[in-house]
Amino acid sequence: MRERVSTDGAASILHADLDSFYASVEQRDDPRLRGRPVVVGGGVVLAASYEAKAFGIRTPMGGSAALRLCPHAVVVPPRFDAYTEASRAVFDVFHDTTPLVEGISIDEAFLDVGGLRRISGTPVEIGRRLRHRVAAEVGLPITVGIARTKFLAKVASAVAKPDGLLEVAPHAELEFLHPLPVERLWGVGTVTAAKLHDSGVHTVGDIADMGHEMLGSVVGRSAGAHLYALSLARDPRPVHVGKRRHSIGSQRAIGRGPHAMSDLEATVVAIVDRLGRRLRHANRVCRTLVLRLRFDDFTRATRSHTLDEATASTQIIMVGARRLLADASDLLTERGCTLIGISLANLDDADSVQLALPFGEQEKHRETTSGAQVTLDTSALDAAVDGLRERFGAGALTRGVLLGRADHGEVPKLPD
Ligand SMILES: [Mg+2]
Repeated sequence: MRERVSTDGAASILHADLDSFYASVEQRDDPRLRGRPVVVGGGVVLAASYEAKAFGIRTPMGGSAALRLCPHAVVVPPRFDAYTEASRAVFDVFHDTTPLVEGISIDEAFLDVGGLRRISGTPVEIGRRLRHRVAAEVGLPITVGIARTKFLAKVASAVAKPDGLLEVAPHAELEFLHPLPVERLWGVGTVTAAKLHDSGVHTVGDIADMGHEMLGSVVGRSAGAHLYALSLARDPRPVHVGKRRHSIGSQRAIGRGPHAMSDLEATVVAIVDRLGRRLRHANRVCRTLVLRLRFDDFTRATRSHTLDEATASTQIIMVGARRLLADASDLLTERGCTLIGISLANLDDADSVQLALPFGEQEKHRETTSGAQVTLDTSALDAAVDGLRERFGAGALTRGVLLGRADHGEVPKLPD
């Protein structure tokens, strides 16, 4: 793992990009492929492992051309279901990191972490933790670029690949950018690159020196203006949060067992505690709980439970999630659990539920716990806990079952 960071603080946009995504999933799931040149897709190369890229294999490239470059490459057919599942798990980590996530494709996203310093630490700390979580929970390498703008964050991750982290501090942007080849800029394909090279322009610094008028005469007025702005690190686009999600989830890797049932329960409590807050923060309610399990041999199982009515109450979700876990206890002891995940699905706006219920009704829920009828007034408690955590940081309060555990998933922070 390679890292280059500074102590300069204003860079708070992360570009997180999985490394050779499809090929990494194949190497994760089949240990025989690790350390070997792997090509996904026979007719056309859809992905190549870094070992294969070292032989010059690129995407997209014909399969036979790839094998001429590297005759001993292992060619495997794509497994899109596995990639979709891995992508979902990685995006769960993204959304668990910050509410401001802009997905770019199945394996990359921008994350704005600027407002999280008090709760989660500096952008570099957040980026490190994100990389660690994706490795531990999904088993994949991911590279993170950190900068003041989306453009620079994306360039930073490209430069830091594979399996790296690179921060471009605001005072060092041009120093970072100008030595890079023009091909690093968005919008510079082979045609534009050839035109620039013909005019003696090879680096981003050359573009900045040329000025936008001269540049316009080489590549056209609008492309020239675009490239000139990028060469001076001007990129005002904010992280844009896309369509609303249909589910939110989070998971924890727990290492190889054996694990006591009480440890597994504590993990579920920590996950639900966090998801409940995210749900309320987004002003949403859920009806379906999904428990996801991964075992020693990387096989998976899911169990789900749909509640009688939609809720945003941590307590009600907790009861449902613990019951799902208890129902799966045979599976857990037989097969050795290495990862637990919870997703909240069937999401709706909290407001629409309040309209559908008589006034005050949403504050009281009945849940059956080991045969006893318990009436809980949980929304006031949730609101109080959320408020304290917002003021004093996520570690200000910890559920009793999690006391003394290092794995409750928060960075302890003292009040300022
Ligand atoms: Mg990628």
